[in-house]
Amino acid sequence: MGRGTKPTILFNLVMVNETEKYMECPCCGYLTVEGHGDICKICFWEYDGFVGYKSHILSDMNGMTIEEAQIYFYNIGACSEKFLKYVIPIEARKYYRHSDDN
Ligand SMILES: [Zn+2]
Repeated sequence: MGRGTKPTILFNLVMVNETEKYMECPCCGYLTVEGHGDICKICFWEYDGFVGYKSHILSDMNGMTIEEAQIYFYNIGACSEKFLKYVIPIEARKYYRHSDDN
């Protein structure tokens, strides 16, 4: 049983990675995306690695800029009207961390 303590350490490392793997969605600011092509559950912006966080650059994947998507998000709760039916309910947003949380 000489290596008996190792799993505990590994577990802690996994937990740390688990909380840090999500990046801030450039549209809504919730920590929901892991990389290029990930779709945010809160606003349905598809993370575009070519655009990143440059809010004025047109994202071909989304067919709009982040600035435009944010206007939709703040007004209707999704980055586009057609995605409104796919986003999680507003009450469920509390289960996700936001970049403003602390
Ligand atoms: Zn989002």
